[in-house]
Amino acid sequence: MPLLVMKFGGTSVADLSRIANAAKKVQAEVARGYDVIVIVSAMSGETNKMVGYVEGTSKLYDAREYDAVVSSGENVTAGLMALRLQEMDIPARSWQGWQVPINTTSAHGSARFIDIPRANIDAKFAEGFKVAVVAGFQGLSAEGRITTLGRGGSDTTAVAFAAAFGAERCDIYTDVDGVYTTDPRIASKARKLDRIAFEEMLELASLGAKVLQTRSVELAMRYKVRLRVLSSFEDTDENSGTLVCDEDEIMESKVVSGVAYSRDEAKMTLVTVEDRPGVASAIFGPLADAGVNVDMIVQNISEKNYGTHTGAVTDMTFSVPVNQVARAQKAMEEARAAGIIMYDELISDTDVAKVSVVGIGMRSQVGVAARMFKALAAENINIKVIATSEIKISVLIDRKYMELAVQALHDCFELDKA
Ligand code: ADP
Ligand code: ASP
Ligand code: MG
Repeated sequence: MPLLVMKFGGTSVADLSRIANAAKKVQAEVARGYDVIVIVSAMSGETNKMVGYVEGTSKLYDAREYDAVVSSGENVTAGLMALRLQEMDIPARSWQGWQVPINTTSAHGSARFIDIPRANIDAKFAEGFKVAVVAGFQGLSAEGRITTLGRGGSDTTAVAFAAAFGAERCDIYTDVDGVYTTDPRIASKARKLDRIAFEEMLELASLGAKVLQTRSVELAMRYKVRLRVLSSFEDTDENSGTLVCDEDEIMESKVVSGVAYSRDEAKMTLVTVEDRPGVASAIFGPLADAGVNVDMIVQNISEKNYGTHTGAVTDMTFSVPVNQVARAQKAMEEARAAGIIMYDELISDTDVAKVSVVGIGMRSQVGVAARMFKALAAENINIKVIATSEIKISVLIDRKYMELAVQALHDCFELDKA
């Protein structure tokens, strides 16, 4: 039997009528002759609510119990989806992660797949079941505890199942009808893309476009999964949505294909650190040990008058997610107290956002950065930090200008035009 994976995100299973609507889409594929693995998220808002419960109970919570609580939303929707399908006379069975089992590492809150043995689900298909409804986001550690894959992780569950079961396609049903040139919720001129290259989608996702979890794109690229994003609210057929595919399946590509943003960033600067070999490692070692995700890094000449400093000094600026600032501060203060690093001051700016342009066309085109900076300058937006790679340019700016910057860059690279 040919097999499809269909994933429904939180808004697509937000209540019973939406679950019924999603079930109709599953029914249509079963009618076309497919066995289907359905991956479901929790009803929208449920995971956030449970994260709130955990944080309201324990500040420095045990990550195993965090996973036990926040994974539970998917159990509800998996069971309800199986029931709804049964009501439509489609033989369906639900699966929680441990029942499959979905074996993962023990990194609670951001676990990674080890393997997904097919035997249990294959046996059910062999019995005549047409649909396996699997709770997304969940896994099982070697210690026998429930794990979760990080926020947005059901996308990754879907791609992993598509790879493990050799699915013909992995369809990600969501509340937008595909991948756009930027988030359609903040730029009305955003344009839906028919196709996007894996590399570009990977950058957009990792730079903040939450339509797909980054790891899901990585897995799809590695295992050559045909990955599609489409709307659960509209009528769809085999040509709907956006196909994420190899670069050579795309006829023409623009210099810039998309603009991404990440709202909750913070910029931290260590003022007057010694400029000597080993200083970067003395700073970023303790930050890594404290579990801080450092993103952009800039080492620059100190803004301060060096006063009593005799040797060479520098400033070290880096960005971290805003909710990790306290942890980063603590790690730096402890490193200073232990004599591992010296600095005069640690300045934290928690009102910044990151805006990025992405495109494989940048590899062969010069002047993209200049165009980007000119567009931001025209809006009087000050750039605080810049980072570039082969196919992306990111800037850190004041958060209040984030939407303006996204729109200005979208206009500047004419992304509304095909
Ligand atoms: P789901 O609950 O289905 O997993 P998400 O909320 O995780 O859905 O992801 C879909 C959202 O991603 C859209 O509602 C949209 O606001 C946002 N988004 C951000 N960037 C993009 C983009 N480039 N194209 C499409 N959607 C985007
Ligand atoms: N329910 C989880 C979350 O909100 C996983 C997912 O929806 O992909 O992050
Ligand atoms: Mg999502």
